[in-house]
Amino acid sequence: MTKTVEYFIGGERVSPKAGARYRDVDPATGKLLAEVAMDELAAADAALASAEAAFPAWRETPVGERCQILFRYKQLLEEHFDELTQQIVTEHGKTVPEARGDVRRGIDCVEYACGAPSLMMGRSLPRIAVSSSFSRESVEDIPLDSALERVPLGVCVGITPFNFPIMVPLWMWPMAVACGNTFVLKPSEKVSLCALREVELASAAGLPPGVLNLVTGGGEIASHLITHDDVRAVSFVGSTAVAKQIYSTASAAGKRVQCMAGAKNTMIIMPDANQEAAIDGVLGSSMGNTGQRCLAGSLAVLVGDAAEWFIPKIVEACKRINVSAGDAEGAGMGPLVDEASVRRVTEAIAEGTESGAELLLDGRTGTFPEEGCFVGPTLFDHVPPESALAKEEIFGPVLSIMRVETLEDAIAVTHRSPYGNMAVMFTDSGYAANRFKETAGAGMIGINVGVPAPMAVFPFCGWKDSFFGTLHSNGEDSVRFYTEGRIIVSRWF
Ligand code: NAD
Repeated sequence: MTKTVEYFIGGERVSPKAGARYRDVDPATGKLLAEVAMDELAAADAALASAEAAFPAWRETPVGERCQILFRYKQLLEEHFDELTQQIVTEHGKTVPEARGDVRRGIDCVEYACGAPSLMMGRSLPRIAVSSSFSRESVEDIPLDSALERVPLGVCVGITPFNFPIMVPLWMWPMAVACGNTFVLKPSEKVSLCALREVELASAAGLPPGVLNLVTGGGEIASHLITHDDVRAVSFVGSTAVAKQIYSTASAAGKRVQCMAGAKNTMIIMPDANQEAAIDGVLGSSMGNTGQRCLAGSLAVLVGDAAEWFIPKIVEACKRINVSAGDAEGAGMGPLVDEASVRRVTEAIAEGTESGAELLLDGRTGTFPEEGCFVGPTLFDHVPPESALAKEEIFGPVLSIMRVETLEDAIAVTHRSPYGNMAVMFTDSGYAANRFKETAGAGMIGINVGVPAPMAVFPFCGWKDSFFGTLHSNGEDSVRFYTEGRIIVSRWF
């Protein structure tokens, strides 16, 4: 009998009741791994009730004690590193090095959250003013002291995507709980097994029952969670269409909201770039994680005569990628996450061929296993600026290439995009790099770096349709997102 992924509520695994199920499949083999309960709203209510009940005691647990549990959790993640890596490979389809990166960057977030005792510190200013009594009868002016404290909010909710199954939930809940909040996680239905293991290990590290809960499901459960009366804050990572919907609905319900969303990222290649580094950087950015990254460079803009060396080299490099199961010997690129993604990406390729662009390499055919969700590296040259290939997120191994005359033309491309997650430039010119850094229309900038992902101490700084909210995930922004400022003004007689 196929198992159903359990919820984690009040410190225990809880079996879902009958209802709609998602089939969670190994994308490399098509083998069914588990079923995922999709629409049990009562489970979401139970998880929120458990988080609400755990909040008063957790808020009063000294922050240093809360962080000791996170130190133990970090150690457990290290001990279970290989197990988590393999779970990602099996459920998501990443190659082993990509899966290891997912776990490692997630652990970075836990390490950062362990610094909550200093990160949460407030500020104070004694004798900010002096005051007389209202009746003016006192003879002396009394000093007023003022302080700002950072205090937890209460129950927070996280809705996460499939493409970094371990890391993206760790962007959220470790800092939330370190700051004294309690949490309900609703991971992507496509990677619920990874999320359940991540949450269960936190309980094994000593997180008290109810502080961190997990329910499975899709949009219906997510929509229920984000408007629930008990919830104070909502963190979302996923596509732009859903991000917009979550941002407006949860904000209207009075929640604090941050939504990290989709992207179409530009990589500018100057003629003077270090050729080997540029090819390697573009290849990793566009094809890494099979193109399923919000920091995937999916649009290469070639300036001047850069195309002369870039095109033959990128075609050759893409042809050399070994497309196979993520844990196969020498795997360079794994499958897409599911059949629906294969349909979406192959349809985008078919539409691209109608757009006037030139198909240099067609990933719909190639040398890869017949079973499983495989699409090979795909390259389009001479992509028209107004086509979907230039403007829309495909979220697969498809690199669109455009040609422009000047540096300013290339920078203008970053401004035409409705998205603003990342822009990258490969160049040997300090002038070009500085001009680009100062004027590009994106919040994360790479200079001779294909994937300028911020480390956990910095915020994940998407702009425009790649982010909705004020405070981003990670870094100092996350401390502020998961706490509320409280001003205390006092005087003593
Ligand atoms: P998705 O939007 O389909 O799903 C994300 C989450 O939202 C899942 O948990 C899903 O179950 C839930 N969901 C789906 N429909 C919903 C609805 N109508 N209402 C409420 N919740 C709903 O995204 P995905 O396919 O899992 O992930 C890929 C997307 O995530 C890409 O667009 C990628 O760029 C983006 N992403 C962005 C970042 C970032 O930091 N900006 C990071 C990773 C991924």
